[in-house]
Amino acid sequence: MYKVIDNLFISDVGSAQNELLLTEVNSIKAVLSIMSFNLPLKLDHIVYKHIELMDMESEDILSHFEESFTYINSFRTKTPPESVLIHCQAGRSRSATICAAYLMKSSNMTSSEAIEVLDKAVPKGVYPNEGFLEQLKMYQEMGNKIDRDSQILKQFLLKKFAANMDNLAKLDDNVWAPDPLYDPNKGTTMSSSSLTSAVDCGDRTKSVNNDVYKCKKCRRDLFFSSSLLFHNKDVGATGDVFKRRKGTNTTCKNQSQGTICSSYFVEPVKWMEILILGVLDGKLCCPKCRSKLGNFNWSGAQCSCGVWVCPSFQLHKNAIDFSPQT
Ligand SMILES: [Zn+2]
Ligand SMILES: [Zn+2]
Repeated sequence: MYKVIDNLFISDVGSAQNELLLTEVNSIKAVLSIMSFNLPLKLDHIVYKHIELMDMESEDILSHFEESFTYINSFRTKTPPESVLIHCQAGRSRSATICAAYLMKSSNMTSSEAIEVLDKAVPKGVYPNEGFLEQLKMYQEMGNKIDRDSQILKQFLLKKFAANMDNLAKLDDNVWAPDPLYDPNKGTTMSSSSLTSAVDCGDRTKSVNNDVYKCKKCRRDLFFSSSLLFHNKDVGATGDVFKRRKGTNTTCKNQSQGTICSSYFVEPVKWMEILILGVLDGKLCCPKCRSKLGNFNWSGAQCSCGVWVCPSFQLHKNAIDFSPQT
């Protein structure tokens, strides 16, 4: 069990159940376990919290940063402060990632600075897996908070949904971007699309103007501007969200303004549900007039500008009418 900063400790699963280390040596008052299973051995006078997570690159640890921060801080900011232990199996990857995110937010550090602090605290060093390191960088890009309007977050969540494609039929309604035709907030300024509401703790204060994009043929409302996904190569810390194919040099700054992109890429909109669930790829047709608007592919597709977008919900600009609200 190692002290990271005052009242914050990190350890493996063995030390997390060692009564001597917990009580007499370090006076731990709260334990945060980040493991696939819960601790079998618990002490009466210690508060426990368990986050079920495996040490895999594909695991979404980012969604747990804010709840972990709140939990840890609730003890560390008491008068007098109480000590918290964060642990996982080996005390190297999952717990180190949660610990790093805490340091980033509480001390306004970059992800590398936070890892450095941990490396100094833990004699053999910490080794968050590559996927967790990327998520720490994403957190940093969002300003050490969960920004619900962030393209980085939207793309991360979408990729996560794509990875769980087999389960998509079971997913809650709020993973879909709203259908403007049925949205009560249509025409008003509202918080950005509901895809990001899958993250519990977020910044709800930001809002965007929601222009509506329509089917050119029948004028059916198709999606809000907040559902657009941009694929500027600089967007996102995760290089694999938007891979660029070898040999292509062109890229677009912003697809809503860019001329090289012949398509809009969007979050899955509610009306697409019947077309895209349980199917790997196919056409996207207008829900009213059935004319072809574009394509979708859960494994991704290449934009005309050369950027690889994954997963891709692509609507051809020449099939869509854009009428900004005044
Ligand atoms: Zn493009
Ligand atoms: Zn139509």
